[in-house]
Amino acid sequence: MTTVVREPADFRQACDDARTSSHRVGLVPTMGALHRGHFSLIDEARKHADFIAATIFVNPLQFAPDEDLDRYPRTFESDVSGCRERGVDLVFAPEPESMYPAQFQTQVSVGELTKPLEGEFRPAHFDGVTTVVAKLFNLTGPCAAMFGRKDYQQWKILSRLALDLDMPIEVVGCPIVREPDGLALSSRNRYLSASERERALGIVSGLRRACDAWTEGERSSDMLRSLAGEQVRSEFDRVDYVAAVDPDTLLTAVAQPTRLLIAVAAHLGTTRLIDNVVLGEDPRP
Ligand code: AMP
Repeated sequence: MTTVVREPADFRQACDDARTSSHRVGLVPTMGALHRGHFSLIDEARKHADFIAATIFVNPLQFAPDEDLDRYPRTFESDVSGCRERGVDLVFAPEPESMYPAQFQTQVSVGELTKPLEGEFRPAHFDGVTTVVAKLFNLTGPCAAMFGRKDYQQWKILSRLALDLDMPIEVVGCPIVREPDGLALSSRNRYLSASERERALGIVSGLRRACDAWTEGERSSDMLRSLAGEQVRSEFDRVDYVAAVDPDTLLTAVAQPTRLLIAVAAHLGTTRLIDNVVLGEDPRP
């Protein structure tokens, strides 16, 4: 049975009750508009836990004023059905007012990891993410929390957050789920027109090109970055970044790296897409 709760106190109580009954809690935080990528996190959570809590909250704090908060897809009824079909035990779907009551004034901020890549183009974004996730971690209590490596930097930051603040949370990074043609699933894909959907493949073509070069022995970060970037630049309207960085620090990689993160963010019309691959670690996308 799937229970839906709206109030933070009810969510906390339900997680506490589950642990009291000897369950291990698995947490899957989302912004809703659930797709197979989210469902894969639920499946992954089952490997770590036997009481699965999914959260659905479009967190206003992590959107800049010029971003897509108002038009972000909201499909609550079908999200809950999806959770029910997959045996999620608890859905927490709070209203913004109960997460951020009047007088709310605390922010959780992670340091260096938040600065490059997304941090450069969405300056307040990660403070919004770390603040809401710290709240979710505190409400949930000890658990295994699932995050997609689609948002690779977010996963790294949240792992750091839990470690630095001694939170009893096992942060798990889950593989990227893709469409058959390689496009990474995203709630924002539904914004794409048919022709933009075609052009969106420029990202995965770029990532594949870097993968193939890596397999053939290329180890120059500059070369791999530029190979990945060519197709992105030709298909997308605007490119925020194509980066080739150390997968742990997100900074310049050593010469001859054994692993290398290729991360891309680019715009098609009004839609911004991100994707990545860790060369030396991930399968070819
Ligand atoms: P969102 O609802 O977009 O905030 O995403 C919620 C969680 O699902 C985040 O941890 C994302 O990284 C993860 N996620 C989103 N898309 C995918 C995907 N295609 N593959 C794996 N995880 C994903």
